[in-house]
Amino acid sequence: MSELLTVLEPATEAVLEELPAAGAEEVDEAVERARAALPAWRALAPNARAAALRALAARVEDAIDELALIEARNAGKPLASARGEMGMVVDTFRYYAGMPERLMGETIPVAGGQAFTVREPLGVVGLIVPWNFPLTIAAWKLGPALAAGNTVVLKPAELTPLSALRFEQLALEAGLAPGVVNVVAGYGPVAGARLVEHPDVAKIAFTGSTAVGRTIAATAAQTIKRVTLELGGKSANIIFADADLEKAAAAAPWAVFDNAGQDCCARSRLLVQASVVDEFLSLLQPHVEAFKVGDPLDPEAMMGPLISARQRDRVASLTAAEGASVAFRGSAPEGPGFWFPPTVLAPVAADSPAVREEIFGPVVAVIPFSDEEDAVRIANDTIYGLSGSIWTRDGARALRVARALETGVLSINSNSSVRVSTPFGGFKQSGYGRELGPHATDAYTEIKTIYYATT
Ligand code: ADP
Repeated sequence: MSELLTVLEPATEAVLEELPAAGAEEVDEAVERARAALPAWRALAPNARAAALRALAARVEDAIDELALIEARNAGKPLASARGEMGMVVDTFRYYAGMPERLMGETIPVAGGQAFTVREPLGVVGLIVPWNFPLTIAAWKLGPALAAGNTVVLKPAELTPLSALRFEQLALEAGLAPGVVNVVAGYGPVAGARLVEHPDVAKIAFTGSTAVGRTIAATAAQTIKRVTLELGGKSANIIFADADLEKAAAAAPWAVFDNAGQDCCARSRLLVQASVVDEFLSLLQPHVEAFKVGDPLDPEAMMGPLISARQRDRVASLTAAEGASVAFRGSAPEGPGFWFPPTVLAPVAADSPAVREEIFGPVVAVIPFSDEEDAVRIANDTIYGLSGSIWTRDGARALRVARALETGVLSINSNSSVRVSTPFGGFKQSGYGRELGPHATDAYTEIKTIYYATT
């Protein structure tokens, strides 16, 4: 452990903590602890594993204020948002506490005996998560992985390891045996890469960039590891002329500026029917200008800073890319802090990097469309397919467009895209596999077929 992780507070650029960075050796030790804990955890009676997950949910609930403060300061998100996210963490463990007793198989008619299936845990599972929703996204993986009887090694992002490290302690305090949940805070290309190549890790559940997802899938192929990937997005928010334009304009900033746009579901392309584009932009402008950017601990703040100087510079360069011009924008504090104002780009060329690439910042590109067919064509003209919204008063059109969009999660006349009880994941290069909802445990189990001869 020679290297250090320097953990910053993005709103002030101050150092929150310096930690030793976990290297390959620490990852190997964590995998060994997880392997040692596996037989007892997977052998727990289903109702006992359910009780353990309920205890975990209760312990996290007791610590919500503490965890929310850690997340608000380290990830730079408004405290109220961080508290809401920690509520989702609790709900996720409660939801998956219902799963150990519902991991059911089938009986299948065959000749000469009885065939049936059971679900077995995979073993030790590696979870690699990003910095935008640090503990929330970890919980989406931890809940089903643990419910299905796996033990886990969780690698948080190097920029935001603090909530995961506290969670590791909370799991012990909740009564989970040592080794069931292990956290390794280290750099992606070192600790993350070791987890991906480790022969005793059965699966990697990854959320992050499409580029790193590609590397992980390629490395995992060497050991035929199971992989689920939740990657980037360039989702469309589609506004038809017949929509409630005022409601859509009030909601549109949240669809892309929430979490400072650092959200794989961010609807960073705003498709507006050409006949109402001027009217819509004039309704949108006051909402963008009033979108308050400020200290995450200020209760008025709707958006905090970006996560790092690197991220801010990348967002700035894509915003200034060829073919894009700023129509209007909000304001942001002066430094220190990695601030960037909410920004609306219009007009913007269809081939501009601001339209093609995931910006992962508070920037939205306005793209006019002529009719329903044109809207679907533009919305699908991307390598990604994660989220999206459709605004119209014509219900049949909403459903037609919803079926035609190549995307994993959609909302009609709403921004909402993620719920504990509904599947979440991407089409195309936004990844594969689904998290949350009742199917997520499938991705943490193998089906075993047993045939019992009766003749
Ligand atoms: P972002 O671009 O949002 O920072 P990344 O895809 O770079 O997202 O990072 C997401 C997670 O993947 C982080 O925990 C990071 O440490 C990890 N990571 C980065 N590179 C690798 C790698 N080569 N192998 C495994 N994990 C990695």
